[in-house]
Amino acid sequence: MEHYAISAKRIFDGERFHTHSSLVWQGETIVGIFPTSTVDEKIIIQHYAEGIITPGFIDIQVNGGGGVMFNEKTDVDGIDTICKAHRKHGTAYLLPTLISDTPRKIHEALTAAQNALDCNTLGILGIHIEGPWINPAKKGAHNESLFFDPQISMLESLPWLKSGTTLITLAPEKVNNESIKWLSKKGAILSCGHSNATTQELDNQYFNAISGFTHLYNAMSPLEGRQAGVVGKALMTDNAWCSIITDNIHVSKESALLAHRVKPKGKLLIVTDAMASVGSKSPSFTLNDEIISVVDNKLVNTNGNLAGAHIGMDESVANVIKWGIDEAEAFKMASTYPAIAIKQERLGKLKEGFYASATILDPNYEAQHVLVNGILF
Ligand SMILES: [Zn+2]
Repeated sequence: MEHYAISAKRIFDGERFHTHSSLVWQGETIVGIFPTSTVDEKIIIQHYAEGIITPGFIDIQVNGGGGVMFNEKTDVDGIDTICKAHRKHGTAYLLPTLISDTPRKIHEALTAAQNALDCNTLGILGIHIEGPWINPAKKGAHNESLFFDPQISMLESLPWLKSGTTLITLAPEKVNNESIKWLSKKGAILSCGHSNATTQELDNQYFNAISGFTHLYNAMSPLEGRQAGVVGKALMTDNAWCSIITDNIHVSKESALLAHRVKPKGKLLIVTDAMASVGSKSPSFTLNDEIISVVDNKLVNTNGNLAGAHIGMDESVANVIKWGIDEAEAFKMASTYPAIAIKQERLGKLKEGFYASATILDPNYEAQHVLVNGILF
């Protein structure tokens, strides 16, 4: 099988920077990073003189892109359109994310994700089901008439993924303990989100089944003096990761930097929570029969509530760096850390044996190209 290579001014492998070096891969697997002068001259090296090569960005919360919402176009085609739209913003892999919907739609979404995984749709890693097992007090743009506490018989009837990652955002105070245990045993990664729980409510034996917190600060009970809320619990639970939306709208710079200071290294990661408007010319789309529009770079529903984000991964990374977080750390927050959070062991680093996946940025951190499973876009 033929070897391919790319080089750039700097290559960040997930741990350190390399200069005068090339990333070499064969098929869909990385061979290594070598000094460019030592690379076999038969291998053609694509060089990005001013560029930075990082491990491919992984976005674990993407509701839509390219004019398509996963809730509205719940099939392989829809997933492919979303992956393509986000590639333009540096995202190599993502979890298509279903916003609260009917059990029938969840069934459809799981089937679509499995079909996409089976036919090797480039960029999909599994699925993220966000609701409807969440709290109406923190519904955000979700439709609360769809919310319910899932019983095991209902969970058993769903076509769960046989491969890839299943991430579920739920409000633990709204889901019976037996179902939390069942989902966890099934291998789903559980994340607390759209939750109004008190810390006491989270302090039960089933809390150990929760691996993370979805979009920290947004749609969760806040940190206050007498009650630390979900935010306090998220910040204080060292072994749980927190995802954060860094569009400069959902979370302020200070709140993001505070979380970065408090969370152990590796436990704060970037998500976009992007909607159909990313990579689309149309400024509005529908979600649960409601019109969502871009107004001043914000996505809002007809009540004026924030409804996801209008941003790509590259801009999210650039914002974090602008706020003062170290460049290498920002890249890890977009790739290495999400890979670990969703247990993708061959992603998030540019190392021998890992999937050939990289994001190529210009000096302003705008995505130029993306390498996905050895294919350069
Ligand atoms: Zn949400």
